Amino acid sequence: MRLMLLGPPGVGKGTQAKLLANAHGVPHISTGDILRGEVREGTELGRRAKDHMDRGALVPDDLILAMFESRLDRADTRAGFIADGFPRTIPQAEAFDKMLARRGLKLDAVVTIEAPLEELVRRSAGRRVCRQCGAPYNVYYQPPKTEGVCDVCGGPLYQRDDDHEETVRRRQEVYRAETAPLIAHYEAQHLVRPVDGSQPVEAVTAAIQKVLAR
Ligand code: AMP
Repeated sequence: MRLMLLGPPGVGKGTQAKLLANAHGVPHISTGDILRGEVREGTELGRRAKDHMDRGALVPDDLILAMFESRLDRADTRAGFIADGFPRTIPQAEAFDKMLARRGLKLDAVVTIEAPLEELVRRSAGRRVCRQCGAPYNVYYQPPKTEGVCDVCGGPLYQRDDDHEETVRRRQEVYRAETAPLIAHYEAQHLVRPVDGSQPVEAVTAAIQKVLAR
């Protein structure tokens, strides 16, 4: 199963990608998560990416492509992957097509998820993440049992630097300008499976399963 989830920030790609990855026994590859790990560890890549991320801008294509390709070549992707947050520009999508073709691989589907702008802003601004295990929460929709504490591992929850409202709005603009054109790119390959992301998590999961079974 080689899947890509495409949609604006805050639409629930990460949550759905984790569920799909567990259900299908394939890795969840989130370029955002990988970058946040590099920033945390203070690597050269993390240092070069941080300013772009904090501004809500995209990290340059060459850095992302090298990072994604080395992730794709790890052994755990043999049975497939769920790509979340990559590709995000037309040059990344074109390079990804070539990366897959060189390996004799094809995407099974591109699940596009949408929701109204104000809903997306509210979701991103309400998002909290466990610093220890990465489990996602939302103070409005999916609060933890104890405020600030992860239900799964007891770790501390934090708000991403780029989830503050002004940056959230900037990321939405970047999505419309740079990433939304990818829908037409994958429509031309007959891979697009649209899903309504304004529903509760379980309903979105069910909708994804339905479009994938078609
Ligand atoms: P995400 O967690 O997917 O929302 O990504 C967080 C931030 O990481 C984005 O706002 C970008 O700055 C950067 N980023 C993640 N994936 C990419 C990508 N494929 N291309 C460029 N920048 C990316």
